[in-house]
Parts: sequence; C-alpha cells; structure tokens
Amino acid sequence: MADRRGERQGAVRDALAKADLDALLISSLPNIRYLTGFSGSNALLVITARHSALLTDVRYATQVWDEVGASASVRIERSSLWDGLWAQLNGVTGVDRVGFESAHLVHQDFARLLEQGARWSWRPTADIVERLRMVKDAGELARINRAVVIAERALHATLPQLRVGLSETAVAGILEQQLRDAGSEAFPFPTIVASGPRTALPHARAGQRLLATGDFVLIDFGAVADGYCSDITRTVVLGKATAEQRDVYDIVREANARASGALRVGMAGMAADAVARDYIDAHGFGEAFGHSLGHGIGLEVHEAPRLARTVEAPLAAGTVVTIEPGIYRAGWGGVRIEDDVLVSSAGPRVLTGFPRDLHELS
Ligand code: ZN
Ligand code: ZN
Repeated sequence: MADRRGERQGAVRDALAKADLDALLISSLPNIRYLTGFSGSNALLVITARHSALLTDVRYATQVWDEVGASASVRIERSSLWDGLWAQLNGVTGVDRVGFESAHLVHQDFARLLEQGARWSWRPTADIVERLRMVKDAGELARINRAVVIAERALHATLPQLRVGLSETAVAGILEQQLRDAGSEAFPFPTIVASGPRTALPHARAGQRLLATGDFVLIDFGAVADGYCSDITRTVVLGKATAEQRDVYDIVREANARASGALRVGMAGMAADAVARDYIDAHGFGEAFGHSLGHGIGLEVHEAPRLARTVEAPLAAGTVVTIEPGIYRAGWGGVRIEDDVLVSSAGPRVLTGFPRDLHELS
C-alpha cells in the first residue's frame, strides 16, 4: 500500500500557502494520525513549508519511531509538549504566522499560546486536515471494508443468541465479545442495544431492560480495523412482527434504499438528506425522523461530511458516509437501518451487505 503521508502533508502545505500562514499547529489526534501514522494519545504536530515535527512523550518512545517513520522528525519531550513546541518553532527561521485548529484547541492551551508563545502570531484555522480526510484513498477504503466485514460477522454470530429475558447490556456484551473475536481492535462508540419502547430513543445506551416477545431490538455498533471505523444499525423483531411494525420497518428500509441509491458526486448533503426525509414525510412520519441522514466515517466514527438539512457542500468522490434514516414513536418504539456507502464517480457503492429484510427471531 502506497505511503500517502507525504502527499497529505503536501496538501496541508498548499492550504497553508493559500491562507498566508508560515506553519500549522495540529493538536487533533486523528488528524495527527492521518498525517504521520502516529496513534498515541499525546502529541502535537507542527508543519512548516519544509518540515514536519511530531512531539510526544516518553511513553511512546518506541511506538513513535515504528509508526511515524520518515514522515516527520520526532521530539520526545520529558516534561511538557508545549516547551518542546516553543523550542521547535524557535529553531525554524521565518516563522511568524502560525495557524492552530480552532475546533480542537481547548481554551487553556489557547491561553498558553498567547502567553508563552507570544512571539508568534496565532491564527485560527478550520477543517484544513478534515477536508483532506473526507476523500479516502485505496488503503483507507480497504481498512473501512475490513471494519465492515468484522462488524457484520459479529452481528451474524450475535442475532441467533438473542432470547426473551436477556438484558440489553447482556446483548451488547455478546456482540462486543464477537467483535473482539472477529478482530475489532476497539469499539468506535459504546454499543447501542435498545429494546421495546426504548427503541424510540435514537441514541439509547444499552440498559437493564429485559428483552420481551414482540420487541423491536435496535442494535447500532461498529468495528475498528487499523484505526478505521464502520458504523451499522439493524433493527430486528423478537418473535413475530405485527402489521404495524412491518409497515414502519418497510418505510425506513425503502427510505434507506432510496437515499443510498441516490448518492452522487457533487450532490449537496441536504439533497441526500431530502431523499430519505421526503419519502418518510410522504408516509406521514416526517416528525418522527428527528436526526440527520448520515455522517462521514473514517479514523473517527463521526467525521465530515454531514448529510443534513442545512448542508450545502457537495459530496466528493471517495467520501464514505452512513445512510441511517429512522422513525421513532415515543412509547411505541422505533426503527433505524444504517449502512455505510462509498460515493464514487461510478455511482454509490453500499459497503455493508448485511440483509435488510425484517429479521423475525424465533
Ligand atoms: Zn450508528
Ligand atoms: Zn452513524
């Protein structure tokens, strides 16, 4: 797999030149991982016109060399990364205007820049690296695909184990064990298992409720493969579905299929959202679909772009997004069906293959 880190850092340098900046301070760990490969939990990255320097602490002394290779010079700091930062910037001549990531720098660190780093002029930037991360290369797509395969294997192994009387947390435990067994290196977010009326809560956490006959069971989860996430939701019925459950399910399934099939390069996020929303609205459930249609996935489980009512930005080729329409009726229950879809110039490619027919578990 080609090493794209040099190319990615080159794109950051182009953005710096355009913004009239001499350097960029990157403090978002996923952005640092994207640009250097470093996966530790404490780091700063400084990119200037000619040089990239990664600062981390002694805990990562071995790991950092393995992961970063030649993509950046490495400084191991014994006390504070910030002291290392001043030393690093002092060592480069001609650096005056330095960008920082306004979405990722906490105020306490911003105050530090103004006090201890007062000799540089600090400028807020937004989404310089996030914009690059939207477009996945072949290596990233392979990792996302692996995360999808792991997640689907785990769900296949879990569904036959669902039983009346099991708690939601027990189901989450079975699924998470299966995810680990299938090779997931982490959980991108706490697994959501909601049953019965709790399926009406779009972001329910798995709780102590016991599964009962006739329940909808909504499972929203993902896997992580080499840093990259998948994000899938399936809703099943424990026992025989009622006609009303089937009607609501079919509307969500059709909204999901239409939105997935409609994704095109250049389409606005709001236009994609509208495909699912208009269909659900036309069937009388517009009010019951309260969240947006989807979000990008990659090194983070929620990243750019968003597919939502207010998003005008066009989708780029190589973007991977979730398509997750839902209908939630308080006191009754809800259905969400979520797939991961690649937007490409050859049309949309749905990466998740897990069946979308209504599963009735006996
Ligand atoms: Zn999800
Ligand atoms: Zn999602």
